Amino acid sequence: MSLDTSTLYLVAAMVAAMLGAMLLFFGKQENIAALKWWGTAYLLGAASVGFWTLAAGSLGETFSLALNAVGFVACGMVWNASRVFHGRKPNLPGLVFGAIAWIAAATTVAPEASAMRLTIGAGIVAIYAALTATELWSERRRTLQKRWPTFVVPVLHGFVLMLPILLGDLLHPNGDMSSGSIWVTVFSLELVLYAVGTVFVIFMLVSERTVTAHKTAASMDPLTGMFNRRGFAEATSRVIEREANAGRPVTVMILDIDHFKSINDRFGHPAGDEILQLFAAIVVNTLRITDISGRIGGEEFAALLPCSLEEAVLAAERVREAFESSGIVVEDGSVDTTVSIGVAGGPAGTELEVLLAAADTALYQAKRGGRNRVEAAEELPLSPENWRRKTAGTARNPQQPGVVRLA
Ligand code: GH3
Ligand code: MG
Ligand code: MG
Repeated sequence: MSLDTSTLYLVAAMVAAMLGAMLLFFGKQENIAALKWWGTAYLLGAASVGFWTLAAGSLGETFSLALNAVGFVACGMVWNASRVFHGRKPNLPGLVFGAIAWIAAATTVAPEASAMRLTIGAGIVAIYAALTATELWSERRRTLQKRWPTFVVPVLHGFVLMLPILLGDLLHPNGDMSSGSIWVTVFSLELVLYAVGTVFVIFMLVSERTVTAHKTAASMDPLTGMFNRRGFAEATSRVIEREANAGRPVTVMILDIDHFKSINDRFGHPAGDEILQLFAAIVVNTLRITDISGRIGGEEFAALLPCSLEEAVLAAERVREAFESSGIVVEDGSVDTTVSIGVAGGPAGTELEVLLAAADTALYQAKRGGRNRVEAAEELPLSPENWRRKTAGTARNPQQPGVVRLA
């Protein structure tokens, strides 16, 4: 079977144009700048290849070169699309560099040296493909498995383009490209696969990002930017498991702002919100980066520290002091604010619910003891399982243990 080269190129151009229109439409609808870049690049690329296939023979040398230059700008736009996708600025000199290099090369290399021109052209495309692959790869925060297409697709594209040049130079050192027509067929088929492959990759990246954004929104507290109750439970469960595997203890503290209701009553709800934000900032800045904190209720916060109870009590004391001396001033005057903190620690593998229940009891003691103080839990309550085991068959009227449940 012999494939007609022009037809193949036209099919490739049409596929690219359709994908481009789709990306542009989706980019506009969802307001994703990178997709608009990508879509425009495909439309430009398709126009360049399409016109070149249909009319290059009948049009002059200059027009043909200009069409090629547009194609290189399209390659540069694909690379810039991946930059924009990662929140970086478009690189405008890089965008036009390929086109300028091409025009400069074409004006110095004689038209008869077509192999040389092909090498330069394919080289430029391969460089852009490599830049795109590097850009997409450098952002791999996810697992390797999920990210491999972002690298493989552009690299394969660059490789397929470079292969005949390498082989051609090896096989035909004199620049004779008589076997070029097979490669033209391979190129055009690969072009279609590349266009489809990259669209697959970009949609994969966009959907991954959307899922991450939704997940983040569901576990964050919008007022303070901290984890909410759910996010705190998820984040701490990972740390507890890690520390348990290493045989290290963990500690939990519950922090509750004192007389917060009266602050709201005296200074208004917006001032109360501001104090919550300030307190959150103090907690985050005072604790270590390895500690996890969150807002688990209205004016109630919690933190998990991978350390001993003694160390955690010191850390809690630092938070208490920092908040007391923060000197908050609102429109109606200065606000005296303090916080009470309950701390509880347990041996490696203690469940979060058990630690929280013990910290809650300690917090209650801190409140009863006059507030603005840190109390450490003397002993852990029974874990829910142990409590059930112990009360099974003995207690006639078992009550729920004082366990704080996290959703
Ligand atoms: P205590 O010292 O015993 O902790 O007294 P308290 O007044 O801090 O505790 P209480 O539980 O009686 O009141 C908590 C108050 O927190 C009641 C509620 O109006 C306020 N609150 C809860 N969520 C928010 C919020 O998002 N913003 C503001 N401004 N206030 C909130
Ligand atoms: Mg309170
Ligand atoms: Mg409270």
